Amino acid sequence: MAINWTDAQIEEIVKMVVSQIGGEAKKETPAFDSESYNGRKFIGIFEDMNDAINAANAGYKAIRSMRVEEREKLISKIRELTREEAEIMATIGVAETKMGRVDHKIAKHRLVADKTPGTEDIISQVKTGDCGLTLTEMAPFGVVGSITPSTNPSETVICNSMGMIAAGNGIVFNPHPNAIATSNYAVDLINRACFAAGGPKILVASVKKPTLDTANIMYKSPLIRLLVCTGGPGVVKAVLSSGKKAIGAGAGNPPVIVDDTADIKKAAKDIIDGCTFDNNLPCIAEKEVFAFDNIADELIDGMLKNGAYKITAAQADELAKIVLVDVKNPKTGIVKKTVCRDCVGRDAKVLLSKIGVSVGDEVRCIICETGFDHLFVQEELMMPILPIVRVKNIDEAIEKAVAAEHGNRHTAHMHSKNIDNLTRFARAVETTIFVKNAPSYAGIGFGGEGHTTFTIAGPTGEGITSAKSFTRLRRCVMADNFRII
Ligand code: NAD
Repeated sequence: MAINWTDAQIEEIVKMVVSQIGGEAKKETPAFDSESYNGRKFIGIFEDMNDAINAANAGYKAIRSMRVEEREKLISKIRELTREEAEIMATIGVAETKMGRVDHKIAKHRLVADKTPGTEDIISQVKTGDCGLTLTEMAPFGVVGSITPSTNPSETVICNSMGMIAAGNGIVFNPHPNAIATSNYAVDLINRACFAAGGPKILVASVKKPTLDTANIMYKSPLIRLLVCTGGPGVVKAVLSSGKKAIGAGAGNPPVIVDDTADIKKAAKDIIDGCTFDNNLPCIAEKEVFAFDNIADELIDGMLKNGAYKITAAQADELAKIVLVDVKNPKTGIVKKTVCRDCVGRDAKVLLSKIGVSVGDEVRCIICETGFDHLFVQEELMMPILPIVRVKNIDEAIEKAVAAEHGNRHTAHMHSKNIDNLTRFARAVETTIFVKNAPSYAGIGFGGEGHTTFTIAGPTGEGITSAKSFTRLRRCVMADNFRII
């Protein structure tokens, strides 16, 4: 499909390209429109969060009377439009957020289209016995309030919408302000798809300008029965304190262990492939490596052959001062190292240019050897920088990897052929996703079995969310009858 950019969008993309090749593009004016694309006004975008909630509630009431079979047609149409418009959303997503890679974002949208479960995920259960029959069904909540991140903006809006609609809900989004045009494009896509497939005009709504205030209106509205939050620790804490039923998909810092039984060449390639996917934006992507000392040189050599560039310890310290900045919490006054937003999801060559190293597009990952305490190991960077820590044996590897995961219980990876080692680490780290001998994205169904999601709910336990995560169980009892034996 041809992309017809507006002048303002072209100007923004030129600025982004200039800044990525090291030129001056200091004045960054937001040129993206949260209400329209290419002259087409988005459907379901409101000035006022209350109006958005009311519109989604009307949509929810409309789909309550639809048969499951009809609801599945909405999902099929969403799949179709997502495939068709993947490139547009990937391109706007990179241009608006200045993060990630267009080719990988296209792959992420296709993954959502192909591997997000639909109504087949909604399964009723029956129990019969001496006392008759009891039916348990998965019912919608009503209107779901969903907070979405800047890292996978349209992917999360579409994936969540598919599951929530398959479950029979209407949805209101409070998307990340830095990805509002991309997120609202996806909201519009869902509404276009649903309407074309026989659904209401608006089933999914969002606001023109999301803020913490609009999020608060969402938390407090009696029409919102479930909150689903995908983002960092601050926002997950906020929804879990809302007093409403909430699903929280929070931050990770996935460690990788490579032991001396692994296929080292494959491990090197898999780790670089996973770590550099969409420039390390996915929360599941490899963030730090713990390599056995006796295979570490071979592993690093394999990484260098697969697009990695190794920097020295001094260069790593210099880069750390650029990609992590001191931010003071205005309430507590505590100063904390925080990732510099301008560096998140950037190409490796752009990050290297910040320390005066000039490389070409063939370099996709920056690697370095560090100690366990280095900020690159401890902080969730979300950029293609991969620290490697040498360890003596499996005990040290597990101890350090578990500590680096910080109890997020999100995702961990291991390359090994030793079943005991694999099992020990999986048990110790207790993550929602554990990937063995593959790139991280195998954990969300990309080259691995199982369905996909962009909302991995570790803190609240739903795990790899799907339609059934957005339902409430209801029981109907027929005493003494309807048993046929
Ligand atoms: P973020 O935490 O900056 O923002 C997430 C959303 O929350 C945005 O819409 C933001 O505007 C909003 N927000 C932030 N604080 C809020 C508050 N106090 N009240 C209401 N809304 C608030 O996230 P980001 O930088 O876009 O995404 C990256 C983070 O999200 C990383 O930590 C990553 O690991 C995590 N993430 C997790 C998953 C998962 O499935 N577990 C998926 C994607 C991203």
